Amino acid sequence: MKFALINGIKKTAKPSEVGICICCSSPVRAYCGSERVHHWKHINAVECDSWSEGETEWHREWKNKFDANHQEIILHDPKSGEKHIADVYLKPIDVVLEFQHSPIHIDEIKARESFYKKMIWIVDVHPYKDNISFHNDIGNAVYDCEHAYMETRFKQISKLSKQGKQKKVEELMDDDDVYTYFENIEKRYFPDYFKKKYSSDTANNLLNILEKEREKVKHSSKSLMGYSLSEEYKSRLQSTLYKHLNQPYLLMVWKHKHKRWQHANSPLFFDIGDNYVYRNIENLRYGNGLIVKKYSKASFVSHYKDRK
Ligand SMILES: [Zn+2]
Repeated sequence: MKFALINGIKKTAKPSEVGICICCSSPVRAYCGSERVHHWKHINAVECDSWSEGETEWHREWKNKFDANHQEIILHDPKSGEKHIADVYLKPIDVVLEFQHSPIHIDEIKARESFYKKMIWIVDVHPYKDNISFHNDIGNAVYDCEHAYMETRFKQISKLSKQGKQKKVEELMDDDDVYTYFENIEKRYFPDYFKKKYSSDTANNLLNILEKEREKVKHSSKSLMGYSLSEEYKSRLQSTLYKHLNQPYLLMVWKHKHKRWQHANSPLFFDIGDNYVYRNIENLRYGNGLIVKKYSKASFVSHYKDRK
């Protein structure tokens, strides 16, 4: 915890001080080492807020973006007597912000949402950032998602057919929904891309022509000197083509997606440690992709902070 009560006033931790927990009123001691952010900790093991997690630099940075009188606010359920410390509670708009760093169980996601009612999750995915990528080049990225899913399905089919489950195999083979599904995703979130993809005079078309040429070269005995279409060149051309599209959404691919977050109903923002937050808009039904919308942290904070 960042705050404790000393003589009834909310104070931050200073060396060798003792205070009272803002939630359970048990004595707490200040911890002011150099390893972790200065914080208060219960002197005796007590039943306090079971939802509270060890405070990190990351929590502190986020809390500090808001006024001190909105940080670490105790909220009560008058009926059950249950109480919890909200990381940030914006009273004027009655919204709780929860900054979640540690893995959290699905049941707790649900419990917090039902307790706080109006809340927003900000999830620290910085530790996983090497497994996360964002794509402007929707065509390729969607294709990758589709492809990854089809590979998994292929494995499933061969396993099922070895087990002699012919009916299930047929069901899976007949399932074409995946293509329609991805096409709809492109149409809904990347309409400009979708239009451009199918218009006749785009660089995308040029790419296709080059691709066909390359195929021809491959199959002819003559070698064409100096002609190549490397993957790098292709992706450069593609990123130029789609760079200027007005795309408010991005495809985020999270290699080992934490499925538990699919169960969150409240707005969910990912923090990967850059200057933005990425709001989870839709989880792709197949593969590890999510559609996200990107906001600068500054605009996110001022959006909530200044609302009356
Ligand atoms: Zn306590």
